[in-house]
Amino acid sequence: MNVQDHLLVHGKIEPIDILAIGPHPDDIEIGAAGSLLKWIEAGQTVGLVDLTQGEIGTKGTGEERIAESKEAANRLGAAFRANLGLTDGSVADDLSSRERLVRVIRQSKPKWVLSNLEEDHHPDHTAGARLVKSAYFLARLPKFLDSLSPHSPEGLFYYLIHSFDPPTFLVDTSAFFEKKIETLSAYTTQFIDPKLPENYRHTGISDYLKSVRTLGEAWGIQAGCDSAEAFIADKPLILEDLTHAGKRAK
Ligand SMILES: [Zn+2]
Repeated sequence: MNVQDHLLVHGKIEPIDILAIGPHPDDIEIGAAGSLLKWIEAGQTVGLVDLTQGEIGTKGTGEERIAESKEAANRLGAAFRANLGLTDGSVADDLSSRERLVRVIRQSKPKWVLSNLEEDHHPDHTAGARLVKSAYFLARLPKFLDSLSPHSPEGLFYYLIHSFDPPTFLVDTSAFFEKKIETLSAYTTQFIDPKLPENYRHTGISDYLKSVRTLGEAWGIQAGCDSAEAFIADKPLILEDLTHAGKRAK
């Protein structure tokens, strides 16, 4: 397998501060677009990786979703967006997938990696989070895929898409919420003009933008602000002093 084993949707893979990874185009935005917008405005650089094209999703085709994810990357201000091209519905934490993802991690050299949470009803979300965890670890091992230099990111954080798992930290995204909705709205087939078969049964509510808004407001109550996003760290965060501990949102 060569270094082109992903589809480059937007920009080119280059060193960035934050690498956000999601199983399907739109998962990153649902869970973390507000925080990414905030961090980009603060000067951080962001790369995006979708594991699949979402081609077996009930709404839209793989081609439509790739085009939508390109537009969303533009609206977000990401440096690049790659699509790993794994089979939608059959994502697995296997050797070939690990190699593909490790290549992107080593080429983009992120300080921090973001993933969806493993506990989820969608099998791609469960397997995808496991795959990210494996690749995050393997990227630092010199003898794994030794054609590329190893890279050790500083932290792995899981963004919450629709669950209320206790977070490690919250990000006040109030000032970026409308821009988050604008970014999500790039996914026309998913949120703006969804075409569903008759009697389709949603796992949640049909108005997903409302769901995103409500969840953001719920975390906002915890953070003391209008809207927030929630993250779980894969290991305890280290504080050098208590300046930021327990700080309320401004
Ligand atoms: Zn998904």
